[in-house]
Amino acid sequence: MTEPILQVENLVKHFPVKKKNRRGPALAVQAVSGISFSLAPGETLGLVGESGCGKTTAGRTLLKLTEPTSGKIIFEGRDITDLKPSAMRSLRAQMQIIFQDPYSALNPRQTIGKIISAPFEIQGIEPAEGMKEAVQALMERVGLNPEHYNRYPHEFSGGQRQRIGIARAIALKPRFIVADEPVSALDVSIQAQVINLLDDLKAEEKISMVFIAHDLSVVQHISDRVAVMYLGKIMELAPTADLYATPHHPYTTALLSAVPLPDPRSERTRERIILQGDLPSPVNPPQGCVFNTRCWKAQDKCRTEVPQLLTIGKSQVACHFPEN
Ligand code: ATP
Repeated sequence: MTEPILQVENLVKHFPVKKKNRRGPALAVQAVSGISFSLAPGETLGLVGESGCGKTTAGRTLLKLTEPTSGKIIFEGRDITDLKPSAMRSLRAQMQIIFQDPYSALNPRQTIGKIISAPFEIQGIEPAEGMKEAVQALMERVGLNPEHYNRYPHEFSGGQRQRIGIARAIALKPRFIVADEPVSALDVSIQAQVINLLDDLKAEEKISMVFIAHDLSVVQHISDRVAVMYLGKIMELAPTADLYATPHHPYTTALLSAVPLPDPRSERTRERIILQGDLPSPVNPPQGCVFNTRCWKAQDKCRTEVPQLLTIGKSQVACHFPEN
């Protein structure tokens, strides 16, 4: 087996909450509560779950844009968990992020040429072919007109702005990218174009990717495997085909029931599972299985015992009473 590009072991990220009462217990937002997975070279892992379940925090922690509370991050065989920001700087070329909102991620006062050349400048790299040529080649690579080099972000559409963000992210030929909801802010008609672009890039440049989305339909096409997160934990992790065909975790089943079906007849009879109640507070997550308060299959055991990830076929599932 080839060595994974990324190994994540029991990664935890808690944000301390200011205490109202000095004598009260120390409280923390338990954004990520012990996730583990590995990523093969060139592989894309879809990371899915509803808003607030910790996807963005997980993605940022993997890149050490926020410091992990505990656990381990191993990148290309090297433990980077405790690397200081100065030591991370040289690794930044290898690890990049694409943000959700292409508006706020781009400096409105900089030209596209300036924005895309920033990674070269930060790393002190002078492209052999010259900066302008390198940037224009990147613009062409992501489907932008290289003649628009001197334009400003407001002169582009949302989809084009996301292409600018992608050009910046791939400028230094990274080995690993976290794409944090890269299409959530875009019109549905544009989403597929941007996903296809990322799909082509990962295949051609052999980039490994964690692709974050709140919707299972968005990640299906691009992901080799999908991890479903709920309240800071991975509930199910499986090869994409297995997850969509035979989901094992009730939460995965619920998320999948929200995905429209291409066949109109099946779509008319599609049964939607509407989860009752709100996402519990990550400051005080439920005992036992964190999903038990909203799960229609929950029994006493689910309220007391934390389910460990077990293997069913090619899937890993954290559930005492898995489906299928
Ligand atoms: P969304 O899809 O809305 O971005 P998400 O699944 O990406 O949601 P996160 O943004 O990672 O979830 O947030 C997980 C939890 O951590 C939330 O309760 C959020 O309020 C909290 N959180 C995130 N960042 C911080 C922070 N810097 N300080 C305190 N709490 C935070």
